[in-house]
Amino acid sequence: MCGIFSYFGPRQNVEELVIKGLKNLEYRGYDSWGIAYRSANGIHVEKKVGKIGERELPKHPVMTGLPLNIALGHSRWATHGGVTEINAHPHMTEDKEVVLVHNGIVENFFELKEELMKNGVKFRSETDTEVIVHLIKLYLHEGFEEAVKKALKRIKGRFAIVVLTKSENKLIAARVGSPLIVGINNGGDSCHGPLYNEYFIASDIPAFLEHTKQVMYLDDNQMVTIDQNGTHFYDLTTDKRIEKRIVTIDWNLQSAEKGDFEHFMIKEIMEQKDTIRRALNQDTGKIMELAQAIENSYGTFLVGCGTAGKVCMVAEYLFAHIAKRHMNVSFGSEFNHYKNFITDRSLMIAVSQSGETADTLEAIQVAKSKGAKVASIVNVETSTMARMSDYVIPVKAGPEKAVASTKATTSQIAIMTLLAYALEKRLNEGEQLLIYTASRINDMLNPRFETYINSVAERIYNCESMYIIGKDMNYPIAL
Ligand code: GLU
Repeated sequence: MCGIFSYFGPRQNVEELVIKGLKNLEYRGYDSWGIAYRSANGIHVEKKVGKIGERELPKHPVMTGLPLNIALGHSRWATHGGVTEINAHPHMTEDKEVVLVHNGIVENFFELKEELMKNGVKFRSETDTEVIVHLIKLYLHEGFEEAVKKALKRIKGRFAIVVLTKSENKLIAARVGSPLIVGINNGGDSCHGPLYNEYFIASDIPAFLEHTKQVMYLDDNQMVTIDQNGTHFYDLTTDKRIEKRIVTIDWNLQSAEKGDFEHFMIKEIMEQKDTIRRALNQDTGKIMELAQAIENSYGTFLVGCGTAGKVCMVAEYLFAHIAKRHMNVSFGSEFNHYKNFITDRSLMIAVSQSGETADTLEAIQVAKSKGAKVASIVNVETSTMARMSDYVIPVKAGPEKAVASTKATTSQIAIMTLLAYALEKRLNEGEQLLIYTASRINDMLNPRFETYINSVAERIYNCESMYIIGKDMNYPIAL
């Protein structure tokens, strides 16, 4: 995981803009970071090892001196090559003609690197990413777009990239397997005057939520170019132009900010008294429809990764106890193992906070290739996972930024509870139980309880080892 934030538009203080955007994405990766932008004096690059959170914002806005500005930012979670300044993104050719940020892994980078080195290319970093830069440069004489398309065709693996060139007023982004979202602001505002278009490309929506709520999603194997005439989307497999819909996000900015809380995790824990209520406030028709699909399926598979995978394990108990129904549980990365048992009568229920979890998306592809139906329980209703699914149950927890999932997890469990009761045609009973749960959570999160939790934490935090044990539904919670 890493964070990408890029900008195309008239604002000149892009240094501040990109650093702020990256700070909003720090939860995605944090061993090193870097930014690059065009200015009247050429391309400015800054890369550092450490947390972007430690980088202070410029005291006075740094202006680029250009009417149209293009900038890239990246916070890295290294996969290839150590955590060093040289390995931090953006990566670029020596002459800074091609500058690029990348989230993902180039699986065939070794072969490509050897080939490029035989042709005299000098590599400066140890990353897999640098091969993409040199490949684009190799084909650049055919035009910027063509070069990016050609380079990407040679890459095996997962990527989200954003790339600029020194000489063109254009930004290009593409993805296979890693998230990338385009934000569009064409309204103008009080600071920047009327009517101007600006674009943000980021790994996640909270990165640009303070600037716009209008987004366009890039899907896998798609590329977008942004220039003064707007956006142009392409399908990388057919090379054809495609049209995109603008979607308006209904998150408010406040819900993506820390407010008075010390950190996001405590804020998100405290929000649970409301988020459980929101999770249970579902379109009953949708819940009944999915319950019916479970009833009709010949094998239901609950699939998630990390904490969402544990939610699937909890759900296995819920369905067994409440609905007396057997569920198959699999972590996204392991789902392939079930391939031979998936048919067009199977149902997969995918669970994810972001709806962009790569391993779960791959599992969905496997299920779909066998003709199975797919449902998703996701917090980001417009995510890739939701768009790939036949049924979508929104978690409605609002942005969850802490890496350790809290409110999204409890809301996902709440939805599983509703589904199990719906399957038994006792949905109302399930709703009542959750209303009661929400009020109990409210009681638990009062300051008195917090003091008590603090005192327990004080007692145990220095222990050398800790054993967390749980049985039944508490077993996955303990895990
Ligand atoms: N594979 C690239 C690297 O190690 C990108 C990692 C990331 O997604 O942050 O630099």
